Amino acid sequence: MKEVSQIVSGFKESIFATMSHLANQHQAINLSQGFPDFDGPSWLIQEHKKALDLGHQGKNQYAPSPGVLSLRQSISENYRKFYQLEFSPETEITVTNGATEAIFISALALLNPGDEVVVLEPFYDSYVASIEMAGAVAIPVTLHAPQFELNWQELEAAFGSKTKAIYLNSPHNPSGKVFTKEELVRIGNLAKKYDSYIISDEVYEFLTFEDAVHIPIASLEDFGERTITISSTGKTFGLTGWKIGWACAPPALSHALRMVHQFNVFSVSHPAQVAMACALKRIDSYLPEFRSTYSKKRELFIEGLRNCNFNPLAPAGTYFVMCPIPDQGTTDIEYCKKLITEKKVAAIPPSAFYLKAKDGERYLRFCFAKKDETLMAALKNLA
Ligand code: PMP
Ligand code: GLN
Repeated sequence: MKEVSQIVSGFKESIFATMSHLANQHQAINLSQGFPDFDGPSWLIQEHKKALDLGHQGKNQYAPSPGVLSLRQSISENYRKFYQLEFSPETEITVTNGATEAIFISALALLNPGDEVVVLEPFYDSYVASIEMAGAVAIPVTLHAPQFELNWQELEAAFGSKTKAIYLNSPHNPSGKVFTKEELVRIGNLAKKYDSYIISDEVYEFLTFEDAVHIPIASLEDFGERTITISSTGKTFGLTGWKIGWACAPPALSHALRMVHQFNVFSVSHPAQVAMACALKRIDSYLPEFRSTYSKKRELFIEGLRNCNFNPLAPAGTYFVMCPIPDQGTTDIEYCKKLITEKKVAAIPPSAFYLKAKDGERYLRFCFAKKDETLMAALKNLA
């Protein structure tokens, strides 16, 4: 038989699936893959159930390809309210199967074979896979641990005449970094100088702590004209399994995104979109408790790790914490295996998020989107 696609044959199972599988196999507490072990709000689950009963209104049939209009309207209203950003529901917002689909269609919509795309490592794993599936080349630039800072000379050196885009992620998984306005302006100016697009993954936009503030790069200067802003309800409403995300961009860019989306999935779960439209309308009353719940979990877990003689890096955003490996000379993969078998706790080895630097080998990534009792049990095992 002929071989499968050369690009696809180079792909491995995602580290998230691998670690969750290992956690189950060894009955370890799973602090690896990023998802809550508790349910999203019960009122929202009720809205979904109600939408399922609206079959007579066609809510169990295909949704419009760009997304249910009431959801696009809610998304648009929230961008205006939180960031003074204007996205037209009709022409600039496309509902996708989670942010993952938005990341993928951005690559397919923008890239030609041979184009270059800058990725900041450590990166979310689907960026490079999406770039490669479009036949383009990922150019890694390292966010240097432990502060995950950019070296601006290194960043500019990665840009050139072939640079079509940069994938940006703030708040950043796995480091927890929240990019400042100054950093975003410098990145935006580089994208402008090299006439590149900005694909901005903002799925943790509402998970910021203490004085960290999330700023969408599309809201700064005139960067919006070259930016695709991506987000997802998976993190914000703790329902990662519903896979409702979106991509917002100017009309011509959105048209290209919609063409890929149309021939990729055509449309996204109709009843889940109807429910999420209601959820986004209620976001103001939902967010305070959401934020305080995660702030408390962050404190509990970081404090607990410190008591276990770890030295975690407190994240400014996201529900992840990077932690240097205490044993010198042990790589992240070896250490994660040891943690699972000996301590019954699963973490992510971050080297999976790098193409170039070896920084990831010295860290573990834990997810604290877990019940307090799960976090306490994990800390007990780690002690
Ligand atoms: N981007 C980042 C940075 C993520 O961490 C994740 C998933 N956790 C995604 C995108 C994918 O989001 P979704 O589940 O909505 O596809
Ligand atoms: N984004 C999640 C994480 O970082 C995992 C998502 C997935 O498994 N595809 O853990």
